[in-house]
Amino acid sequence: MSAPVGIEKASAPFDTVLIANRGEIAARIQKACRALGLKTVMICSEADRLAKYGDAAEHFLCIGPSPAAKSYLNQDAILLAARLTGAGAIHPGYGFLSEKASFAEAIDRAGLVFIGPPASAIATMGDKIAAKRAMISAGVPCVPGPDTALPDDRGLIDRTAREIGYPVIIKAAGGGGGRGMRVVSEPQQLHEAVALTREEARQAFGSAELYMEKFLQHPRHIEIQVVCDRHGNAIWLGHRDCSMQRRHQKVVEEAPAPGITAKLIGPVGQACVEACRQIGYRGVGTFEFLYEDGRFYFIEMNTRLQVEHPVTEMTSGLDIVREQIAIAQGMPLTLGQAEIGCEGHAIECRINAEDPETFLPSAGVIDELNLPEGPGIRIDTHIHAGYRVSPYYDSLIAKLIVHAETRSAAIVKMRDALAATRISGISTNLPFLSAILDDDGFGRGETDIHYLEHWLKTRRPA
Ligand code: ADP
Repeated sequence: MSAPVGIEKASAPFDTVLIANRGEIAARIQKACRALGLKTVMICSEADRLAKYGDAAEHFLCIGPSPAAKSYLNQDAILLAARLTGAGAIHPGYGFLSEKASFAEAIDRAGLVFIGPPASAIATMGDKIAAKRAMISAGVPCVPGPDTALPDDRGLIDRTAREIGYPVIIKAAGGGGGRGMRVVSEPQQLHEAVALTREEARQAFGSAELYMEKFLQHPRHIEIQVVCDRHGNAIWLGHRDCSMQRRHQKVVEEAPAPGITAKLIGPVGQACVEACRQIGYRGVGTFEFLYEDGRFYFIEMNTRLQVEHPVTEMTSGLDIVREQIAIAQGMPLTLGQAEIGCEGHAIECRINAEDPETFLPSAGVIDELNLPEGPGIRIDTHIHAGYRVSPYYDSLIAKLIVHAETRSAAIVKMRDALAATRISGISTNLPFLSAILDDDGFGRGETDIHYLEHWLKTRRPA
């Protein structure tokens, strides 16, 4: 007899988790493991040998040279480290191997537990056409455009664009990281844009498959956090606004998204949960939407923990990472949908080691560090005085999160917290973050995804 939909075979029990990541998220996962009474194995590259989170781990193993391709992306080395230390599960964090279906499969084959969704769900969501198809069938609203690959026939391409209506966006089915996309405003540009994107897709993602959809001109970025266990339970934890982006990178995030009513987003959240059931999703995930003129349009699902998960933890009261690990252990969700509330307002600022004007990464030793503290203030970080910021990885060095009763109180609290933060020895984007928090448009909660780029151009004419 087959198992009912959404219920899976039990996972192998584990008491030790290997954390296949670095930096703030490695420290964050380690904290959640400890709260669950689990031992940890931390891995590192040569550049991260002195990371403090290594001290608290049962094992701290250097698995390769500083470039990520030779360490944090080396699947064989990570699996070997798990075998040598007796780790029963692997947490991929975000970035690196977190959305590689082949990694989840290899972990499964090795008889270990991947703390994340099944490899099949990662593969479906990694193919944007397959993802769109799955969303449409679950009733999740998508951007207008076909859920099939763009044909080669020029006449059919013309017809698709005409039916959608210009401007359109051509996207690589296997694209990611904001690459492999091209906006087309007029019919004369269409075929050249398709040819260029196809070639780019072939070279960058190993697949020339493309699709076309409507290009939305002033959307906000709103996302929905979901959590699903192995017992067929799936819930959504409200929404976040991540419209403040520079070069498709989120800079400031908040929960809930300002001005979005429960009535408006409720059916979308329910549809996300339904989609999770249909694709046999497990663990934590995020549905990303563009929101324009009162409507939501699905763009992609991230099948992993997000950088910005803390704002949802602050408003829902749920420890998302702890829940994620407990789910991998086979535990049922600790809360049902009816128990999920949204208390107050939370904002997160990403503190990066970079020049606040040019945004060029800044490496070096932090000689003085003063981080704010107090009620409603949280810092997720791995840095300390004397820490050497490496040039090899992402420039995120800390996340500052505040929680207050209202959005305006959270803005005031964040302004004060930023002003109280001192990091010397390297450059950081603290002045840039403070300027955003002082901005009237941000204060009104009316920013779309182009707001920050536009603001930078007009604030500092070239
Ligand atoms: P990636 O996987 O590369 O991050 P996404 O599909 O999430 O690709 O798109 C990245 C960004 O591109 C979005 O956050 C948004 O800013 C922009 N974008 C994508 N699709 C559209 C669209 N249909 N209309 C307008 N902007 C879009």
